[in-house]
Amino acid sequence: VLKYSPFVVSFRKHYPWVQLSGHAGNFQPGEDGRILKRFCQCEQRSLEQLMRDPLRPFVPAYYGVVQRDGQTFNQMEDLLADFEGPSIMDCKMGSRTYLEEELVKARERPRPRKDMYEKMVAVDPGAPTPEEHAQGAVTKPRYMQWRETMSSTSTLGFRIEGIKKADGTCNTNFKKTQALEQVTKVLEDFVDGDRGILQRKYVARLEELHEALENSPFFKTHEVVGSSLLFVHDHTGLAKVWMIDFGKTVALADHQTLTHRLPWVEGNHEDGYLWGLDNMIRLLQGLAWS
Ligand code: ATP
Ligand code: MG
Ligand code: MG
Repeated sequence: VLKYSPFVVSFRKHYPWVQLSGHAGNFQPGEDGRILKRFCQCEQRSLEQLMRDPLRPFVPAYYGVVQRDGQTFNQMEDLLADFEGPSIMDCKMGSRTYLEEELVKARERPRPRKDMYEKMVAVDPGAPTPEEHAQGAVTKPRYMQWRETMSSTSTLGFRIEGIKKADGTCNTNFKKTQALEQVTKVLEDFVDGDRGILQRKYVARLEELHEALENSPFFKTHEVVGSSLLFVHDHTGLAKVWMIDFGKTVALADHQTLTHRLPWVEGNHEDGYLWGLDNMIRLLQGLAWS
């Protein structure tokens, strides 16, 4: 049973908008070529700063906060707007998917989560410890860490969250996609049809992103967790990648910087973003020349 089907929302007359992750209802259509995402201060701060950073070409343009029906939203560029019947892939970047502060909070004040226990058991009934089984609950970091080790987050520094292809097929059930061969297959399938050209375009774009990241004051001084790369291409040959989802991108304490490559140990805030990006580029290159 496909439990996590993407939400296909009819945003405008000429194309259906696709949301590959997150809660249904977090997004609304904005004005022409824009979308509204449920307000989050962390995301607002990040997007504001990113508009004045070398990373600007690689993030959705930000248009500030708007109110609608008593709710607050961040308004941003709809990255699908220029495509015709696009294929879309969301890859969550980094080797860690929860913030250090979430870990501290869970330790100080553990909040047992029944919903996360149930999601865990649905994938692997043997995953919870005897204590967790007895409680029928797990903490959030425990759940997130388990998801990391089930997927390629721990082994490659990124994981595929969801894919919708132009032919209408959708898959958001990659929870156990971990092995290099599995990930390779999924990527291969995503760029299927127009292999060489698409791969070269994606690799070129990712290499530009890599350079921008290395020159970015924002990136140097932020822990980037739970952020995704959104891959989009269509039959016209347009293929692009953007960084999205800055709900867990936080500024480091004064003058601290990250390599985004070193292994994480609690307290060093390293997120493994560049390690994951390097692996992603290498993997896509491997496809391109095969
Ligand atoms: P989660 O934290 O669970 O990943 P979220 O509520 O923070 O979810 P996002 O990850 O930002 O939401 O976005 C969810 C999905 O919506 C993405 O996978 C993508 O399909 C789509 N999406 C997000 N931002 C944009 C954008 N600017 N343009 C086009 N599509 C977008
Ligand atoms: Mg996301
Ligand atoms: Mg998010």
